[in-house]
Amino acid sequence: MRHSAKSKPLAVCTICRALIDPKQRVNQRCGQTVHGRRCAGTFRSDLSYVWDPCRGCEATGFLGSLPCVDCGGYGWRLFGG
Ligand SMILES: [Zn+2]
Ligand SMILES: [Zn+2]
Repeated sequence: MRHSAKSKPLAVCTICRALIDPKQRVNQRCGQTVHGRRCAGTFRSDLSYVWDPCRGCEATGFLGSLPCVDCGGYGWRLFGG
């Protein structure tokens, strides 16, 4: 099965740096749980972020039929993050 490369994530959490989920929107509160508490960050898009395509999955988010562990299935990572 062949997966095509994903487009870059639109936003990232201001606190935990989670990448935005397709079900979430920019400026929406982050839904990640960090140390048992809901993260207080919001998703912001920032053009200064540099995205790096995941080398493990070549930005497809998949390794074979499984989501890529390196990038959490997003296909992209924050450069330096
Ligand atoms: Zn967060
Ligand atoms: Zn990956």
